[in-house]
Amino acid sequence: MLTKTQFRLGLSCANKLYYRNTKGYVNQSVEDPFLQSLASGGFQIEEYARRHFPEGKFIEADYKEPELAITKTIEAFKNDGAYFEAAFYHNGLFALTDIVVKQGKILKLIEVKSKSFSDSDRFLNKNGTACLSSWKDYLYDLAFQVEVASCAFPDFKIESYFFLVDKTQKAGVDHLSQMIRLSNKSHADPRKDVKVSFSSVEETGQSLMILKDMTSVITSIRNGDIEYSTGIIFPRALKDIKLVYDKGEYPNYPTRLKVCAKCEFKTKSLIDEPDGKSGFAHCFKHQHGLVDSDFSKNFSFSLHYGFDQESPLFLSEVIIDKEFDPINGMSRSDRRLIQIEKEAKKDKRPFVLMNELQDELSKHEYPLHFIDFEAGLGPLPPIKGISPYQNIPFEFSHHILYKDGRIEHKEQIILADVGQFPNFDFVRALKSSLGDKGTVFRYHNYENTILKMVMTQLEESQEKDKQELINFILSITQDGNRIGERNMVDLQKIIYRYYYDPATNGGNSIKDYLPAFLNSSEYLQSKYSKPIKEINLNSLNDLDGNTIWIKSKDGQILDPYKQLPPVFKHDEKELAFEGTEDLEVKNGGAALVAYAYLQYVDLPLSDRNKIIDALYRYCELDTLAMVMIYEGLKNIAV
Ligand code: SF4
Repeated sequence: MLTKTQFRLGLSCANKLYYRNTKGYVNQSVEDPFLQSLASGGFQIEEYARRHFPEGKFIEADYKEPELAITKTIEAFKNDGAYFEAAFYHNGLFALTDIVVKQGKILKLIEVKSKSFSDSDRFLNKNGTACLSSWKDYLYDLAFQVEVASCAFPDFKIESYFFLVDKTQKAGVDHLSQMIRLSNKSHADPRKDVKVSFSSVEETGQSLMILKDMTSVITSIRNGDIEYSTGIIFPRALKDIKLVYDKGEYPNYPTRLKVCAKCEFKTKSLIDEPDGKSGFAHCFKHQHGLVDSDFSKNFSFSLHYGFDQESPLFLSEVIIDKEFDPINGMSRSDRRLIQIEKEAKKDKRPFVLMNELQDELSKHEYPLHFIDFEAGLGPLPPIKGISPYQNIPFEFSHHILYKDGRIEHKEQIILADVGQFPNFDFVRALKSSLGDKGTVFRYHNYENTILKMVMTQLEESQEKDKQELINFILSITQDGNRIGERNMVDLQKIIYRYYYDPATNGGNSIKDYLPAFLNSSEYLQSKYSKPIKEINLNSLNDLDGNTIWIKSKDGQILDPYKQLPPVFKHDEKELAFEGTEDLEVKNGGAALVAYAYLQYVDLPLSDRNKIIDALYRYCELDTLAMVMIYEGLKNIAV
C-alpha cells in the first residue's frame, strides 16, 4: 500500500521511492519517530490538539496492522464523533489521519502540525498557483489524505483542516510544558504513552492552536490547479508515484543537483559499500555514465553557497565569471573562486590573507572569552505569558585564553530542572562569568540571536534587575546598526574573511574547521596531544587534568567530537549526540533531544545525570574548539 509518507518521498524524487523499497540500499535519513517527535515537541502538540476533542476516541490498531485500522474505522463511522488515527484505504492507497470529526455525511479531516503559524503567514505564492516550499509537503500530504478518504467514502462530503500552533498566543497558566509528559517505559509510544495533568484545554487558558480551513486549497490541489513545484501537479504526481511503487522498477527520474546534494540514499564514500548500496551512485552511473573513480572527486553541489541548475557535475569544472578581489577580506564569491581553484589544482594547502588576518587579530583585547550556548525548544511554554516554541537557552560553556597562553575553563552551566524557565538566570550567570574585561567570541550568530530574544522577554518581565541584564545584553550584542560597546566577535566571520582550508570542502561550521585545523597545524598537534594538566589548561569536567584531546590512529588525527562518550540509551541502542545531528531541527538536534529528555520524559536520576554529564562535555569541547581554532590562526599569523 502506498502511504502518505511514501507519496511525499516520491514527490521529492521518484527514484528515492525505488531505493526505499528495494533491499540493500543505504538510507541515511533518521527515521526514528520517537526522537523526531521528542526533539520537535510534536508529541506534546499532538496530545494538546487531541485534548480539544475531549470525547475523541483512538482507532485502536497498531500501525503495522493497516487492515485492522481500516475495518475499525468503517465500524466507528457508524456513529458521529471525533476519532484519532482513523485509517482510509482505496485502490492501493492508504492514509492514516490525525483527527477526523464525523458529523452525519460530513468528514472533517484535521491534520495536526507542530508548526507555528500566524494569520499573516501564507501557504501559497502570491498568484495562488504554487505551494510555498515550506508548506508544499504538508499541503500535498493533506491532499493525499483527502483523496483517499473521498474515494473510500464517496457519499461523504470531505472537509480538510490544518490544526497549527498559533505563535501569537501566550500561555495562560504556569507549568503548561510539564502538563503533558512522556513515560520512560521502553518502547514508549509518543502518541499514546503520555500523561496529561489537565482534563480540558479551557483549564489551561486560551488555546494555543489555530484551526485553518484548507478545503478550497486542497480541492484546487487535487484538481491540478496548484503546483507542488514547477511542473508537478497532484493528479499526475499521484498516478506516476503509484506506478513506480507498483512496478518496483528503477524509474530513471532525472537527477537534479539541488535535490541530489541532500539525497539520503548516499553512502559515506558515495559508492557501494559492504554495509549497503548507494542509490546516489546508481543514479549518476545510470544517467551520467560515471564510474566508481569519479565519486572521489568533489561534486559541484559542495560549492560554497550553492550552485545553479546549469552547473557541471564536478566542482573543478565550475566557471564563475568574476575576479578574485578580496576587499576587507574574502567575499562569498572570493571563497567560491578559491574553492574551485584549489579543487582544480588539487592543492590541499590552506589559503590565508596574511596581512588582513594579522591586522584583525591585533584588535582583540585579552583576556579572550569564548562562549557557546545550547538551547531547547518549548513547544508548550513553561511559564504564563510566554508564546509557544520559544528557544530556551539552558546551557553555556565559557573558556578564557589569557595573554600568557594559559587557558581556563571558567564556567559551565546547565539550567534544566523540570519545568524551569531558565532564560533570566542564564543571562545572570553569563554576565557574572564574563566580567567586564576582554573580547568575547561567539561562533556565528546563534548567541547573538538568543540573547536578543531573552532581552525581549526581559522587557516584558517584572524581574528586579531587568535593566541591568538588558544593559549587559545590549553591550555584547548587535542588531542592525546598533553595535554594543563590547559586541561579541564572530570567530566564524574571521575565518570566513581571511582563511580557507580545502579540507572543509566549503563548510564553515566549527565541526568542519576543528578537524581541518588539527590536521594542518603542527602547533596544535604538538600541544593538544599532551594531557591538559601539562599544557596550562584546566577542565571543569576533569579535575585531575588527564584528558588528552588529540589522539591519532594510523597517522590520522581523530576528531575529538567522535571521542566523546555516548549520551543516553534508547531502545537498547546507544545514541551519541552525533547521530542525532541529522535530525532536521535548527540549532543542533542533539541539544534539542537532550533538553526534551530532561524536561518531558520521566527519567530516573541516574539517566538524567548521565545526559547532563555528557552535555557538559560536548559544550566544553565547543568552546575549547574555538580556543584551538583561535590559537591555530594566531600561530599562522605570527
Ligand atoms: S541521487 Fe538524485 S536522482 Fe538519485 S535518488 Fe537521490 S535525489 Fe533522486
